[in-house]
Amino acid sequence: MSTPTSPAMIKAAGVNKFFGDLHVLKDINLEVPRGQVVVVLGPSGSGKSTLCRAINRLEPINSGEISVDGQPLPAEGKALAALRAEVGMVFQSFNLFAHKTIVENVMLAPVKVRKLGQDEARRTAMELLERVGIANQAQKYPAQLSGGQQQRAAIARALAMKPKVMLFDEPTSALDPEMVQEVLDTMTGLAKDGMTMLVVTHEMGFARRAANRVVFMSDGEIVEDASPDEFFTKPKSDRAKDFLGKIL
Ligand code: ADP
Ligand code: MG
Repeated sequence: MSTPTSPAMIKAAGVNKFFGDLHVLKDINLEVPRGQVVVVLGPSGSGKSTLCRAINRLEPINSGEISVDGQPLPAEGKALAALRAEVGMVFQSFNLFAHKTIVENVMLAPVKVRKLGQDEARRTAMELLERVGIANQAQKYPAQLSGGQQQRAAIARALAMKPKVMLFDEPTSALDPEMVQEVLDTMTGLAKDGMTMLVVTHEMGFARRAANRVVFMSDGEIVEDASPDEFFTKPKSDRAKDFLGKIL
């Protein structure tokens, strides 16, 4: 676990979030040490996406503190943009730019935000596309790729900013079943390379194999925080037992 000399890579302390009267994150406390892979499970509407969005400050919080690599997330401005660049996010929908090629999609943010030169950005983008196994698709447009390939491109695009942390919010939920594994394999590769990852997924096989830890959310709360083995074989709460009963 984390030591005083290595602060948690992601830390949420006493985080509360409301949408109007709806209390969607209830006193969330979560520390993810460097290199750890945490899978977040929970029923629909339990606050998983809101938690991801809060960590990336796509969603403001009402109270509490979130820090990434020991740096509290500023509310806005340049400092926020810089810190947000350290957190890569991959969504269910790939959100690639349709009118740009795959390699251009991956180059875009490094050129715009990191002010990288075209040549260096292209070289880095090609390395990343190689890493996610779609270098041969680099000159195509998103619509010419399968869903799995597009999601791998979205992962490469997030990695292009050299993030310290990667957040995945149901990255395989929109994919045809035969494409799920190639995306999970890409994520497993990242985990093996030591990336700190927070992964919202319903893929229990991935949770069992690739996660160091499972966080189970229900109704805005973290109800269980355990090793995958513990969580799947000995869930403590009725809510977790009920959830597992429905999905396994
Ligand atoms: P999950 O990802 O676990 O399905 P979400 O974080 O998306 O859950 O949603 C948690 C709760 O917050 C749900 O009740 C949802 O309806 C509500 N919610 C999410 N986004 C908004 C929003 N922009 N405005 C109002 N309510 C929202
Ligand atoms: Mg969600």
